[in-house]
Amino acid sequence: MEYKAANTIQIRSDVDRPNGLKIHENRGDGTPLCGTVNRDWNGRTMHYAFLGDGIVNCGSCQRVVNEAALAVALARAEAERKADEDAARAERVRAIRASGVRIALPELDHGLRNGI
Ligand SMILES: [Zn+2]
Repeated sequence: MEYKAANTIQIRSDVDRPNGLKIHENRGDGTPLCGTVNRDWNGRTMHYAFLGDGIVNCGSCQRVVNEAALAVALARAEAERKADEDAARAERVRAIRASGVRIALPELDHGLRNGI
């Protein structure tokens, strides 16, 4: 699982020396998107190396990106469903008005809810 990101991070003992650890996406605050914590490793102080744009190979960062994309897609689908529902309701109101039928409010309310 790899993807491109504008700002990447690798945790290193020497910021100038690449290693085999995962490359994370920079969340924007100088820490990995996935929340991986920078800890001392085998007694060595580790640092965040800021690598600019590049390939992210951290599966946890990928999951965060996927979940964010899913949330956006679900919100978009819900907004679309609501817009369709509103349009259908407006069409029912228009049809009732066009029919010239006078409907008592409880019947109208029931009809709008269930589709006339
Ligand atoms: Zn990560």
